[in-house]
Amino acid sequence: MAFELPQLPYNHDGLEPHIDSRTMEIHHGKHHNGYTNNLNGAIAGSPLENKNIEDILTNLDMDNSAVRNNGGGYFNHCLFWEIMSPSGGGEPTGELANAINNAYGSFDGFKDAFAKAAATRFGSGWAWLCVHKGGEVKICSTPNQDNPLMPGVGCGGYPIIGLDVWEHAYYLNYQNRRPDYIQAFFNVINWDKISASYSEHK
Ligand code: MN
Repeated sequence: MAFELPQLPYNHDGLEPHIDSRTMEIHHGKHHNGYTNNLNGAIAGSPLENKNIEDILTNLDMDNSAVRNNGGGYFNHCLFWEIMSPSGGGEPTGELANAINNAYGSFDGFKDAFAKAAATRFGSGWAWLCVHKGGEVKICSTPNQDNPLMPGVGCGGYPIIGLDVWEHAYYLNYQNRRPDYIQAFFNVINWDKISASYSEHK
């Protein structure tokens, strides 16, 4: 079973003005599509072909750079589209809010720590919020298309937020102003989706 590029859960311009339509069109239709096709090519005819993406990443041979880069790219972007929404923004509630407050003191403390992780990732990569069994949340960042499901990568746990800080994610609209893009991301975060993932994976 080949992996398929998922549909965006909103229109290309759905996240305007925070993330522009042209960026979404290229990011989803070209970049994510490329990772998807290259992942399928990398696993064709191998035992990985019949596994789901989380199994592939959790048990990854980190020396297999084709699956590491393209399997990571496939999963990371699937998550990224899902945790944003045209009606996003605001703050988390319930048990996720409690976990964030326990770890970072307040929602503002979380925003500062997450923005710092995203801004200080040198070159291309991702910033993450992950949940560990027992409910603790942790922020980390990883290079390239790595993610914390992979063995020994980042803070471990299950990623419930992933923010793409590759230049292809923001350069058309924000040029070199990655911090402005990071702040804009907070306006489109889909906390309902993330809360549901937290509850499922805690
Ligand atoms: Mn990307």
